[in-house]
This record gives sequence, C-alpha cells and structure tokens, in this order.
Amino acid sequence: MDEIAREYPLIECNLTKLGHNAREIVSRCAARGISVTGVIKGFNGDPRVAAVFRDCGVDGLATSRTEQIAACRAAGIPGPYMLVRIPMPGEAADVVSLADSTLASEMPTVRLLDAECARQNKRLGILLMADLGDLREGFWDKDELVEAAAETEALSNVDLLGVGVNLGCYGAVVPTPENLGALAEVARSVEARIGRSLALVSGGATTSLPLVLDGTMPARINHLRVGEGILQGKDLSDLFGLDMSFLHLDVFTIKAEVLEVKRKPSRPVGRIFVDAYGYTPEFPERGVRRRALAGIGKLDFAYCDMLKPREKGISVLGASSDHLILDAEDYPGELKPGDVLEFDARYAAALFATGSRYVRFVCTR
Ligand SMILES: *Cc1c(COP(=O)(O)O)cnc(C)c1O
Repeated sequence: MDEIAREYPLIECNLTKLGHNAREIVSRCAARGISVTGVIKGFNGDPRVAAVFRDCGVDGLATSRTEQIAACRAAGIPGPYMLVRIPMPGEAADVVSLADSTLASEMPTVRLLDAECARQNKRLGILLMADLGDLREGFWDKDELVEAAAETEALSNVDLLGVGVNLGCYGAVVPTPENLGALAEVARSVEARIGRSLALVSGGATTSLPLVLDGTMPARINHLRVGEGILQGKDLSDLFGLDMSFLHLDVFTIKAEVLEVKRKPSRPVGRIFVDAYGYTPEFPERGVRRRALAGIGKLDFAYCDMLKPREKGISVLGASSDHLILDAEDYPGELKPGDVLEFDARYAAALFATGSRYVRFVCTR
C-alpha cells in the first residue's frame, strides 16, 4: 500500500506499556514457580512488538500461525517458538522448520512430525493436550493420552515436553483448582507410565492467571501461555473483576477519522428488513441526535462492542463493513469531518485491526 499517503485509520501499540505489563505478569508467575511463554497472535505476531515481548523475561514466544513465526525469525527475534494451534498435517514441514515445540493431540500427526524431523535433521518438542471440558483440542480419554505419551517418548526425533490444557476459549469453561488439579493428575499418570518427570505442565492461557494472582494454582502447574493478559489487562479487570491496577490497560489505541457529523433520527425511516450481514437490528427511540461516522469498519475490527471511545460523550451505535457509526449528542466539543477519535481496542478489535491491510500499525514508546 505504498501509494496510500493517508494516516488513518491506525492502531497504535505502546511498547513501553506492553513491556511493563509483560514483566509484571512474568514476575508474578515466577514467584509461584510458573514460567510464561509469550503469545504473540493477539497482534498478528508483528516482529516490532514480539521483540519487546521476548525481552521481558518470557521463556519463549508462541503463536497459532507458522507465518508469524517465519516473520519473527526473519526479523532476527530469538525463540524458542511454540506453535499453540495443534498442527495441520499439511503444515508438518513448516512446523518442523520453524517451531521448536508444538501442542499436539493426534498421534498420526505426531508420527508425521517425527518423520519430518528425521528428514530435516531437527528435533521438535511435543506438548500433549488434555481436554478438561472446554471441548476444543485435546485428548478426552486420559488413558489414551497416557498411551500417546508413551508412544511419543519412544519416537526418535521428537521430545515429549509435557502435558497441557486449554480452557475458556471455545466452551468458555473457567479454570479452577479442580480442573487444573485434574491436569496435574494426568501429568502424574504420564510420569508413572514413562518413568521420568515431565518438564512442562502447562495450565492454560490468560484465563488461568486469576489462580496465580489469588494463590490457588495447583503446585504441579509450572507453565502458562499468556498473550491477552499482558496485552489486554482490561479484559481481566472487566470480565473477571480482578484488580489489575499494576498493569497498563491501554496498550493499544485505535484512531479513526470523522467522515460525517449530522443530526438524524435515532430510528431508521422506512420498513426495517435485514442489515448488510443479514441481521435485523433494533433501534431504541431517543429522538433526533448528533451522530458521527468514522472511517473504519467491521472489516477492520469485526465486533463494534470491542471498541470503546476514549472521549466522553461519544458511544458506538454500530458499524457496517467500512463505517463506524457513533452517537455524539453528549460530546461537549465541536465535531467535524477530519477530527480524529481515539478508542480502546479490546482483544478481538486489536486482533483484527493489527491484521487489517487497511489499518496502519504504529508502534510508540
Ligand atoms: C491463544 C492461545 C493461548 C494464549 O491465549 P491468551 O488468551 O492470549 O493468553 C494459549 N494457548 C492456546 C492453545 C491458544 O490457542
């Protein structure tokens, strides 16, 4: 997009705030014997941000996409790198050439990775996943997991690093001392079967941090994979009601330019059918109000409730693919085309905006 000269929309990442957050989370985990792998997928693995993340005491970087590992390696950012989406069999060659370890839950894939390691003369660490209720990846049958661990241990080109779980992503299941205690139990069964102790018992992601902070994490859990909690402390304070005052809650800022400011009725005029996405929206009657359009849309942030205006008196009414529609009736100042509005970007908004080719990604300090 070299021919595009405009400045907005943009998403800004404050690297100083991000670094502070990462060090705070890493040190709180370290105090409980837990190492942290920094997950970089929440900002599409941008190497400028990943470089700062890597410097903050994490034991490595992780992401779900091999392309992001390739970009960070090309930028010279040291690993080790963990792949946190269980691999597609079709990407086995990339996983072996790019990653140092991967999550896994299918033995045919682990065998494929082992063969690929032999071909590339490389080694790959394997973290076998247990499904403890969230119903995304992982062995449901824990005896099957123990047998898979024994087989992985016997393969010549991969290393069984340990076991892990993911919670709170698909099934929205809350990590507790009970379900993470069950992971510790799985680790004990594997260790009894293979006759040695496991290096990693990986108790999940950001949603497991509350147990670290309140001291209820089972002792055997010694590793977490954390992205959101470092990038988006606001989610932990808003969603989990935790005191996150030791973190900066505004690492990311989205800025968009105002396109139109007009007074209009609050309900559409005419027969209401479906919007651009096939939904029939509801519009409360609030009379004629000042509204503003900004030049950013669902194509860039997907969910408008993930954008929170920083200016008082401005609220998000909705969005189409390319327009953000704002209520500005209570905004005390003047508002006109060309003004720039700032927004907090919650997890999904930062995820989409940092990956949108229509949004500039700016790093500040
Ligand atoms: C995305 C992901 C993480 C990190 O999640 P955050 O909520 O960003 O901390 C950890 N593990 C797995 C398997 C993931 O997919």
